[in-house]
Amino acid sequence: MKFYSTNNTSSRVSFKDAVFNSMPQDKGLYMPVNIPRLDDKFINNLDSYTLPEIALHVAQNLLGDDIPADDLKTIIYDAINFYAPIVKLEENVYVLELFHGPSLAFKDFGARFMSRVMSYFLEEGEKQLDVLVATSGDTGGAVALGFLGVPNTRVTILYPKGKVSDIQELQLTTNGQNIRALEIDGTFDDCQALVKQAFTDKELNEKYRLTSANSINIARLIPQTFYYFNAYAQLLKLGKGKVVFSVPSGNFGNLGAGLLAWKMGLPVERFIAATNANDTVPQFLTTGVYQPKPSVATLSNAMDVGNPSNWVRIADLFKEDMNQLKNLVTGYSFDDAETLKAIHAVFDRYNYVVCPHTAIAWQALKDYQQDVHVDDTAGIFLSTAHPCKFPDVFPDEIASHIEIPEQVRSLHTKTKHSVELGKDFEGFKKYLLKNN
Ligand SMILES: *Cc1c(COP(=O)(O)O)cnc(C)c1O
Repeated sequence: MKFYSTNNTSSRVSFKDAVFNSMPQDKGLYMPVNIPRLDDKFINNLDSYTLPEIALHVAQNLLGDDIPADDLKTIIYDAINFYAPIVKLEENVYVLELFHGPSLAFKDFGARFMSRVMSYFLEEGEKQLDVLVATSGDTGGAVALGFLGVPNTRVTILYPKGKVSDIQELQLTTNGQNIRALEIDGTFDDCQALVKQAFTDKELNEKYRLTSANSINIARLIPQTFYYFNAYAQLLKLGKGKVVFSVPSGNFGNLGAGLLAWKMGLPVERFIAATNANDTVPQFLTTGVYQPKPSVATLSNAMDVGNPSNWVRIADLFKEDMNQLKNLVTGYSFDDAETLKAIHAVFDRYNYVVCPHTAIAWQALKDYQQDVHVDDTAGIFLSTAHPCKFPDVFPDEIASHIEIPEQVRSLHTKTKHSVELGKDFEGFKKYLLKNN
């Protein structure tokens, strides 16, 4: 499969180039030249396959012969080695748990697949790949654990000092090996600005082979289609065939992947774009005006994005027919008070604890089901992170019901290693040049 830039649809690059460049020079995003439909037989029989089997079939459908089948199989079976169950909470309300990977967030799907694809494409004797990643919490952990021990790669994580949760910080700073963590005295935006400047710095780029692990990378998006197919497979097993997905959204990679799955033939009645107060997309879906704005801080901080970077991909998928997009995607947004209310409601009704991002997706699904009476359609809301990653959000009575997974309990026995830096570029650059 070849890829074009959303800013120049006649451009063509290989999958390898799309993965290593992350972003085209023209600042568009890479998209596959065509999105082949899977055959009906596969879709109708999804319930007879496992998650890695589905993943392999879907990836082959999209990538063609970019990676030979045996190698692709090795990559997928190594990357997607945890499960993604749907759990029934009430009639037609299911939660898709995407937090069973090593970092306890759905970003493990993208990060683990991308790291293995990059490692696969790195040829013998090639210069070490230096991955720079700025994180507000979840991305850094997934990327660190995705690349941990992957030969010929090194990851440098930049995170805002004092602004990630304790568990997130431990996930970023206790890895060792080829992972190092920089604690920046600033905000997430400062971290991102440092990374961006590094990519344009001549001296750094001569010395190092820098790449980004941000969600703009197409290799992070593709594996996120897998769990939509797998969720549908689980519904088929329950004798259900009509589905709406509610997706808690920030940069819109997750929803973009869902739409990619739909383009490949997954029968989805509707997607719900669920956001916090950063409601650029829900606003667009109701008013038709796309007006990015500065982000505001919320309880669901992994979705604090005012100008979602993957929106250009979604717009590109529907460029021939924006009305089709509006008929397929409905937006809902909720403020922090509503988010807390939803966390309580989910706990009271089902004795189940959701993280603040997931709570927003649940509330959006419930509101949608009330607004549009579709009794024969199953609603699946995506749970993007384990609630234990956000301990400060919950009152004690709910917090005490959160089961702490083994990955987290063992973190507390490890020692934090990080380097504290200011937010000035010169200090960051000096650190990179000195610590070869
Ligand atoms: C990253 C993240 C999101 C937002 O996903 P996008 O693909 O950027 O829309 C939602 N919830 C959690 C927990 C996240 O870490």
